[in-house]
Formats: sequence, structure tokens, C-alpha cells
Amino acid sequence: MIDLHLHTTASDGRSAPLDLVREAAAAGLSTIAITDHDTLAAIPEACAAATASALECIAGIEITAVHAGRDIHVLGYFLRLDDPDLTVFLDRQRALRRARVNEILGRLDRLGVAVDRSEIDRRAGEPGRAVGRPAIAAALVAAGRARDIADAFDRFLSEGRPAFVPREGASPEEVFDRIARAGGLSSLAHPGKMGRDHSIADWAAAGLRALEVFHPDHSPADQARYQQMASVLDLLMTGGSDYHGPGSGRTAGLGHSVLPRADFDRLRARAAA
Ligand code: AMP
Ligand code: ZN
Ligand code: FE
Ligand code: FE
Repeated sequence: MIDLHLHTTASDGRSAPLDLVREAAAAGLSTIAITDHDTLAAIPEACAAATASALECIAGIEITAVHAGRDIHVLGYFLRLDDPDLTVFLDRQRALRRARVNEILGRLDRLGVAVDRSEIDRRAGEPGRAVGRPAIAAALVAAGRARDIADAFDRFLSEGRPAFVPREGASPEEVFDRIARAGGLSSLAHPGKMGRDHSIADWAAAGLRALEVFHPDHSPADQARYQQMASVLDLLMTGGSDYHGPGSGRTAGLGHSVLPRADFDRLRARAAA
């Protein structure tokens, strides 16, 4: 089973890299890609451990771009880890994340919602670590201001809610280009959650290489639509569980929405070409 969308504690996953690899092996996966938000920090450790357990491991990422004021998640696969331009770009992405988290905490403060930020600040200080709203959601739960992570997003953190802060960042086109320059293939993450179908043809023309067709939040109709779109636009297909670990507020387990072997073989062949 091939699962190309997994998060670790380097971003907002709950499983440390080595734990994730153990869980992946126990779930019977054969190929994994680590795709943390805006960081490659978990990959050396995770992929070394995976390879030692005969698990194939792809260097991946999920980069947040901004289009018309909305977040667009772009996956990258088969990246060179030591690409200097990509390293500088990701450092900046993480600095923007820290600034946004600070702004959100400031808003909560002005709303009179006190949370303990020491854990968030500790994480933000670790090199290579990408912080984000899930860490604030956890602090809101700990402070008794939300029942669980999903409730914290619904009450405070989602777009349109009182502590929401819009993001600044690179355009999708810039992100496709940066992934390509680092030797990688870009894939549009969970398009069914983004409501941007009308932009996909433009993005395919601008360098997007694949669509994440298989994702736990996609209905059978979504999956069929993106399969068709990929075929018409000559895009590759990717898929995975978007696993964030136990207690993350996301329900799909490892190995949910796996990628068919034939699609993975096409992806790998295109990456090597
Ligand atoms: P950020 O990276 O700060 O924009 O936070 C976005 C991340 O929060 C996503 O990648 C999800 O993992 C998580 N997330 C977004 N909405 C929810 C939700 N309603 N419940 C749980 N997790 C969520
Ligand atoms: Zn996430
Ligand atoms: Fe995502
Ligand atoms: Fe993800």
C-alpha cells in the first residue's frame, strides 16, 4: 500500500518521525512519503528508519501557497533535500508562520481568551519546525476554551472566525516552480477541499504536474472528477491519508486513500525523467 501524504511532529502531526515509521510498517504500508507543512526536517530521520524496515520512503512536502486570499496546499515529491534556494524559501515560509501564529495569539488576547503559549513558543524555537493553527487549537483545548481541536477551529481559528488572520505567502505558480527547481514533482493537495477547480487548467499550464485524486475528504464523485481532470490535462495522480496522528482532530488512519501502484509507477518514472 502506497500512502503519499503523512505529517509528523516537524509540522502539525502528532507522531514523531520514528513513531510514524513504526506505525506505517505496522499498518502494512510498502511506500510512504513524509509531507510536512513547509519543512523537510523529519525526512532524514524518517526515511533512514523506513529504509531500514524495508519501507520505501519519498522525500515530500506540503507547501502553503496563497491564491485570491485563500490557502492552496501544494505537495512536492522526490525533492533534493540540500537545494539552497528551496532551503531559503522554506525558512521564510516558517518565519511567516511564526508571525501569523503570533498575530492570532494577539487576537485571542484582545478577545479576552487567555491561552498558555509556552508550548507553542518552545516548538517555534526548534530549528526546522513549522508551527501553525493546530498548536493554537491544542492550547485552546488545554485552556478549556474548546472541546477539541475541530471545535477550536470552529469557534476561533477557521476563516471567518474571530481570531482568523489571513496568510501572506507565495503564489501557487511560484511554488510549482520552486518544487521543479529542487528536482521535485508538484501535486495539488486535496483539490476537493479547496473549491478552486476553475483554476486547475491554468495551474497545469503554469507547471503543476499532478493532482491529489485520492484523499479521505474526497467523495467518490470528487475522486472521479479529478481522475477525469488529470486525464484531460495530462496530470499525474497522487494520493494518501493526510495522516496527522492520534488526537489531531482528523479521523482518517494511515493507509486510508492509498495510491494505486500503477499511478505511483508513473509518478516515479516521470520524476526520474
Ligand atoms: P495552518 O497551517 O496554520 O494554516 O493550519 C492548517 C492545518 O490545520 C491543516 O493542515 C490541518 O491539519 C489543520 N486543520 C484545519 N482545519 C481543521 C479542523 N477543522 N479540525 C482539525 N484540524 C484542522
Ligand atoms: Zn496539517
Ligand atoms: Fe493540506
Ligand atoms: Fe496535509
